[in-house]
Amino acid sequence: MNDLFPIGQPVSEPETVLTQHLGSQGATILKLAERGVDYLPGFLVAISNLYEDFEKVVSIILEQGLPGIEKSVRPNSTENRPPLDLLISLLPDVAIEANPEEVIPGEIPARLRKGIRGLVDTYRSDLLNQALPAAVLIQYLPDSHKNKSCTTGCFLNRDPLSGKLLLSEQLDPHCDPGADGITRLQESAAILESWYLDIRQIDFIIDGGRIWVTGQSAGSMSVQARLKLLTDLFNQGGISDKTYINTLSPEALSTLFYPRTDPAATADLKSIKGGVAGSPGAGTGKVYFSPEKLKAAYWQAKSENKDPNLILLKESTHADDLEAIRLSQGVITSRGGYTSHAPIVARHLGKPSLIYHGVEHFENHINIEGQLIQEGQNLTIDIQPGAPPILFIGTADIQSASHDSTDLNTLLEQSRLHCHPTQVRANADTAQEARLALQYRASGIGLCRTEHLLMDDEILETLQSLIINEDAQQKSLLLSKLDTFLSNAFLELFRIMDGQPLAIRLLDAPLHEFFVNPAMPKLFKNRLKQVNPMLGLRGCRLGISMPELYDMQVHAILTAALEAHLKEKISVHPDILIPFAISHREISVIKKGEAMAEHASGGIESVIREAVKSAGLETLPFELRIGAVIETPAAALSTAAMVHQAEIISFGTNDLTQLTLGLSRDDIGSMVQTYEELNIWEEDPFQSLAEPVKHLIEHSVRSGKAVRPDLEIGMCGEAGTSREVIRFAVQLGIDYISCAARSVPMVILAAAQIQIREQDR
Ligand code: PEP
Ligand code: MG
Repeated sequence: MNDLFPIGQPVSEPETVLTQHLGSQGATILKLAERGVDYLPGFLVAISNLYEDFEKVVSIILEQGLPGIEKSVRPNSTENRPPLDLLISLLPDVAIEANPEEVIPGEIPARLRKGIRGLVDTYRSDLLNQALPAAVLIQYLPDSHKNKSCTTGCFLNRDPLSGKLLLSEQLDPHCDPGADGITRLQESAAILESWYLDIRQIDFIIDGGRIWVTGQSAGSMSVQARLKLLTDLFNQGGISDKTYINTLSPEALSTLFYPRTDPAATADLKSIKGGVAGSPGAGTGKVYFSPEKLKAAYWQAKSENKDPNLILLKESTHADDLEAIRLSQGVITSRGGYTSHAPIVARHLGKPSLIYHGVEHFENHINIEGQLIQEGQNLTIDIQPGAPPILFIGTADIQSASHDSTDLNTLLEQSRLHCHPTQVRANADTAQEARLALQYRASGIGLCRTEHLLMDDEILETLQSLIINEDAQQKSLLLSKLDTFLSNAFLELFRIMDGQPLAIRLLDAPLHEFFVNPAMPKLFKNRLKQVNPMLGLRGCRLGISMPELYDMQVHAILTAALEAHLKEKISVHPDILIPFAISHREISVIKKGEAMAEHASGGIESVIREAVKSAGLETLPFELRIGAVIETPAAALSTAAMVHQAEIISFGTNDLTQLTLGLSRDDIGSMVQTYEELNIWEEDPFQSLAEPVKHLIEHSVRSGKAVRPDLEIGMCGEAGTSREVIRFAVQLGIDYISCAARSVPMVILAAAQIQIREQDR
């Protein structure tokens, strides 16, 4: 190994060897200078060499090092000029903070010896330091360093918020380096950026008309700025696709999508921290304790041109609260957990949702942690990914989320190429969500929950009438109205998802969920009342008890798909998912029908045959697969039998967790904190996957593939956004993870990072 390493000359040793010898700071300076950063001329010496033979190394410095600096600073000078002043610095390894430096003016040898000795002794005196490599850096000290004139400055070549390269006229380097100087600094900045993958602030000095870099450090920058920088580097070929994908964390990326409160606006507000973060983002407005009051307040504010920003606060929300959630700026519930109705809907709609269990509800006010809040008072929710949720008492400015979609598209497109074999699809029910899913590069829709399409006030009434009506003629009119409504909605989805898979789940929700409206006559409510609806008449049990519901839905899917395919030349890839099955017999009955006295149905296969015939065709002109959502332990344990009937499967981890752990997804809230504090759970089992749930999924995958080796397998529960769950899915060879459309970018990035790591192993 050499004794001296002049800055700016080619170094033959690789960076790792240099780091072992000189420490990371020294190695970095040499490598950056080799690439063209105009560091102040000088050279480095390893501290270990100085320990070993101080006098020999000092002679080499005097005989070779100093003349070398002289030559690079005064290349043409023949006259006899006074020696250069020197700056010596200690560059310890990363673990140590101290970075002392010393100026050596005038007559050199004795002072240089003394200065270096001082630094070496300081370093050596700390026993911990001795084992770590470090370098002594000796540089010339420009005359202008001592002048008061404006010869030093700092330079940032990108806007720290947008990450865009600054134009010459936007630069503020504190002193004018001239056009050539700017060009040199921009070149140095580009080299530093591709080394650090970060915006760097450059300190420079102008001496004798030349620019020298005296130091550089990380500039503070937004996530958008980082994304822009990385995208620029990738587009210019400065970094590989894998480096591009691996550098930004999915958590950091997620901050681009969610509004937040302005910290200046919340500084004086009372706040309550904690609760379960149901859906990220920020929202502010007057709080209402019932959807009816919220809707009325909203429309009144609109008609009077007043502020329509409102927050919904309820114990829990239900299917027909959808409209109120949609009109609100956020929703607070005091029951339930991450997979309850309010957070799922809020995640789909892009609204913040907070679950806070310490709320006492009264007629016109609530008590939350001793704070009495009247209906109509202002509240602000702020939930940022990875941080505890905050509820502010009062109103605050909200900073909207923004990002450059070209940069985001490039990152997602590249990431998607690495989402193999596990792709990312979206849970999307409406046209708006489907468009968002495509915009975020989802590889199709993995779960369309039909019941969410039926929450429109008018169509909900039709569904309610159908369920409670006993007159056959009336029923058939109502079914046909629902059929038309759904087939229009599906047609729109097929148009948007042209060429991409669209998995539509048949009705799943317990029927009572469609009847929570207090205006509904008691008689009907009583008729539908179930003691334990989540374990009662729901999922495919609905389709078996009321086959006309599933027949109508399948007819609507077929009508839409055939029209899209035949008339609009759209490439359709429909999948039908049967929810909540516990046995292959259920799937068989739903597919093939069963002649029962009062429920004669030919099954959904006969609906498909009829639709094909009515279209004047002999066979379906596209593939249509019928699959099962595996969301009961029974289904997971009998997948082998089920996949004789089901052509595809998708794990509904919300219900699978609920049923495996015997833990109601709507009642978990009251115990989460205690269980986490006592380490019974490391995290909310609905946001990750508990071991027993993983065992069931593993068993199901293995036994399903044994029967159908090419079985397509998805995972569509809310846990799919967790990095650990994504890793589990990748390792198990799951074909796709389906998550809320708004989470797709983060999940694509995480899935790509995990799969790159798996492939490189
Ligand atoms: C599930 O149970 O994981 C699922 C996707 O269905 P839902 O949340 O609609 O019950
Ligand atoms: Mg489910």
